[in-house]
Amino acid sequence: MITFGDYIQPKSVDEAYESLISKKSARLIGGGCFLRMGNRRIGLAIDLSQAGLDYIKDAGEEIEIGAMTSLRSFETSELLKEHFGYMIGDSVKHIIGVQLRNIATIGATVYSKYGFSDPITALLALDADICLYQGGRMALGDFLKEVGHRRDVLEKIIIKKSNKRGSFQTLRNSQVDYAILSVAVVDDEKGIRISIGARPGRAALAIKAMEYINSKGLCEEIASKAGEIAAEELHYGSNNRGSGAYRKELSKILVKRALLEVSK
Ligand SMILES: Cc1cc2nc3c(=O)[nH]c(=O)nc-3n(C[C@H](O)[C@H](O)[C@H](O)COP(=O)(O)OP(=O)(O)OC[C@H]3O[C@@H](n4cnc5c(N)ncnc54)[C@H](O)[C@@H]3O)c2cc1C
Repeated sequence: MITFGDYIQPKSVDEAYESLISKKSARLIGGGCFLRMGNRRIGLAIDLSQAGLDYIKDAGEEIEIGAMTSLRSFETSELLKEHFGYMIGDSVKHIIGVQLRNIATIGATVYSKYGFSDPITALLALDADICLYQGGRMALGDFLKEVGHRRDVLEKIIIKKSNKRGSFQTLRNSQVDYAILSVAVVDDEKGIRISIGARPGRAALAIKAMEYINSKGLCEEIASKAGEIAAEELHYGSNNRGSGAYRKELSKILVKRALLEVSK
């Protein structure tokens, strides 16, 4: 069971951050879905629901997604659909059910860097940036490479607009289970990006496969070869959902499938 000492609802990110650093046992609360599965006492619970972080905004060249945006708003946003097609919705639609997606937040998801995270895999392929209250703006890819967790508030996620076409592919033992593997591919004017998550480690880019495909152009044979390169260059581990060897084989198929989908 999770218990709180004090509980506050700051009205701004400034206030949330000051409270966070005021006490070692302080903890931010997004939707609270993941936190509540644990067993701990939180000295100061800082509920971000009133801090003005629930929005999806058109900011000219970019789209900004506030940290307290629910996974359901992320999934159904017309603005995101208009610019990035179905891949964003596809990356969250398997997460448990609508009730949970109405509560769980995108900021907590990204900040927590869960290896199994489907939306992180999609956002990495979309070359998203994040904005931290103290740490400022940085590429999501750099944030994911950092070991451990900063003591900071994730304010928003930023995706640059461009002529992006994307595909999100995943395999699960059942519809709402955690992914055995997830793959996202984005093709835009800068080239193709391939991100692979749930290996079961954090999502990472398949850089060699990207270099290969961007130097060759996209057809079925090249897509198969790119899948093989991606399978070799990243580490695939084992857990109770699948073995490393299985994930490695699977990555060939899902990368090829995603590449062929964006080529249509
Ligand atoms: C039963 C279950 C099944 C799930 N299955 C999947 C799945 O298949 N695929 C998938 O991708 N995800 C899955 N998830 C994870 C889910 O998508 C969310 O990532 C998760 O619930 C965290 O979101 P939350 O808002 O509930 O975070 P919370 O529980 O509120 O917080 C999680 C952590 O993030 C910190 N935090 C919250 N907001 C911020 C912020 N703005 N800045 C900094 N730190 C912050 C909190 O302090 C805490 O440490 C599942 C979750 C549950 C509960």
